[in-house]
Amino acid sequence: MAIQVMKFGGTSVANLIRIKNIAKIIESEVKINKNKLVVVVSAMSGVTNRLIEDYKKVRQKITDPEYDVILSTGEQHSAAIISTLLNERKIESRSILGWQIPINTDSNYSKARILEINSDLIKTLLKKYKVLVVAGFQGISKDDRITTLGRGGSDTSAVAIAYSLGLKSCQIYTDVDGIFTSDPRIVKNATKINSITYEEILELASLGSKVLHPRSVELAMKYGIKIHVRSSFKRKTGTMVVKEENKIEKEVVTGITSSENESKITLKGIPDKPGIAAKIFGTLAKININVDMIVQNITDDGKFASLTFTVPIEDEKRAVKELKMSKIKFKNIDSKNSLCKISIVGVGMKSNVGVAKKMFETLALKNINIQVISTSEIKISVLIDLKKKKIALNALHNAYGLQI
Ligand code: ADP
Ligand code: ASP
Ligand code: MG
Repeated sequence: MAIQVMKFGGTSVANLIRIKNIAKIIESEVKINKNKLVVVVSAMSGVTNRLIEDYKKVRQKITDPEYDVILSTGEQHSAAIISTLLNERKIESRSILGWQIPINTDSNYSKARILEINSDLIKTLLKKYKVLVVAGFQGISKDDRITTLGRGGSDTSAVAIAYSLGLKSCQIYTDVDGIFTSDPRIVKNATKINSITYEEILELASLGSKVLHPRSVELAMKYGIKIHVRSSFKRKTGTMVVKEENKIEKEVVTGITSSENESKITLKGIPDKPGIAAKIFGTLAKININVDMIVQNITDDGKFASLTFTVPIEDEKRAVKELKMSKIKFKNIDSKNSLCKISIVGVGMKSNVGVAKKMFETLALKNINIQVISTSEIKISVLIDLKKKKIALNALHNAYGLQI
């Protein structure tokens, strides 16, 4: 008995017409290819957002497990609808929730991480049913409470289940033909990438491209699971996520992405002494705030420094308040959002010079001011004004020759 894991995202199950469409894909896998399927599903698109709105009518802060209980219902709903439709079509199926499997997670409610999956029940049920429709995005904590895996987390459910079943691959069906050189909704001449490395898609996903949940890529990379990202509307090959050594063409820049989730904080007039940066970032780490991009400048007389860094937008106020309350000496603190981080990613960057120069020149030609820069071996990120996002993405996309 060959088992396959297929995941369908929110837009692929958005309404009955779309669900009937995916039922056909499932039917052909079961009837023609004789596979047994674990179908992981997201909530119908828009449902999770509405559930968040409902929660926020009662409580603004997302700190208690009831948030996860509410959010997980979106996937419970879609899983049951899809399973019912499959049974109507004489494909023996049943739905199953995260806690029933169980998918054990940590207790980090609203962004829990999967710790382990016991696949015994899935295997037993697959003897009786042709298809198991698993509600994605959810698990159970050691306190027996429902957890959710963070927005977009159904991808991670699918990869983790594939691993727990000892499979070497997992199919992610979505509303685009695969992974593109940039978000096809913003960059009109973006092209589909045939194969991309785990490292590249991990950078792109972590830097804002929502096509795959970053944690799903981390898991796939760790356990060598191939991910095939493909369209649920067309029966065509999409993008294969592979190991670097299996990628023949190593483009200098494979993809470009953006994130609007950045706030910039600047501290001016900090005494330029050893240990001061450790104190500032230590203060933020203590309250669980992640700092991303950093620049430091020293005044001409060498006595004072100014430090600029970015934090997630939702942490901006907390970060400023904590630094003001701390004993750290500085003259002034300032924070700003309405910014956008643009990142270029490619494994070929490791062995090519002039990649950064081209990025800075391209932005300069468009009169776009770079506020902060950060780099890694395979990526360069710049922080710019949010209003310039579309111009920057399109200009860089052309500059690196990624267009059709
Ligand atoms: P699903 O509901 O199937 O999980 P998502 O909305 O989470 O789908 O992810 C698919 C979306 O990701 C696409 O509609 C597209 O707008 C966006 N996206 C962003 N960057 C990229 C990219 N580089 N390639 C493909 N899609 C991208
Ligand atoms: N329904 C959840 C969300 O909208 C999880 C997912 O779609 O993967 O984020
Ligand atoms: Mg998604």
